[in-house]
Amino acid sequence: MSKRVAIFPGSFDPYTNGHHDIVVRASGLFDEIIIAFGTNSSKKRTFEIPLMMEKLNQLYEGYSNVRIESYKGLTVDYAKTQGAKFILRGLRNATDLRYEMPIASLNHDMDSEIETVFLLTQPENTVVSSTIVREIHNYGRDISAYVPYEL
Ligand code: ADP
Repeated sequence: MSKRVAIFPGSFDPYTNGHHDIVVRASGLFDEIIIAFGTNSSKKRTFEIPLMMEKLNQLYEGYSNVRIESYKGLTVDYAKTQGAKFILRGLRNATDLRYEMPIASLNHDMDSEIETVFLLTQPENTVVSSTIVREIHNYGRDISAYVPYEL
């Protein structure tokens, strides 16, 4: 049987405890997980991708089946280049689900071999979002309670 490869795409600006929890739990479900930073040149980031990738390479050093990459273009096209049949996404609440449903559906239309797999977040991470963590950081406060690495 071919390897079960999942990509976990996102902006991860920054990568949070919520993202980490999804990857740790999914690492037992798939043969390989590729954390994939989507690069969107029109969006200005607070936490640069090279810095985030460096932190994640350290964080997942002990996980032989987790890889960190970045990509341009459509997620389904990138998935294909990696031999990935699964797109992994995390859900915190019904708002996330409403946002994710049409994306998963259109991705499936574009490539029927690709399945989107959702994991529900743990209760303690339902309130953690990159947007809020970014805001806290921009106002000069410590975000170490929300991210799984030291800045
Ligand atoms: P995007 O810009 O693609 O939405 P994000 O970096 O915001 O990327 O999120 C990537 C994925 O992680 C999405 O599926 C999102 O719903 C999920 N996610 C974000 N925060 C959490 C959290 N606290 N717990 C679980 N999943 C989360």
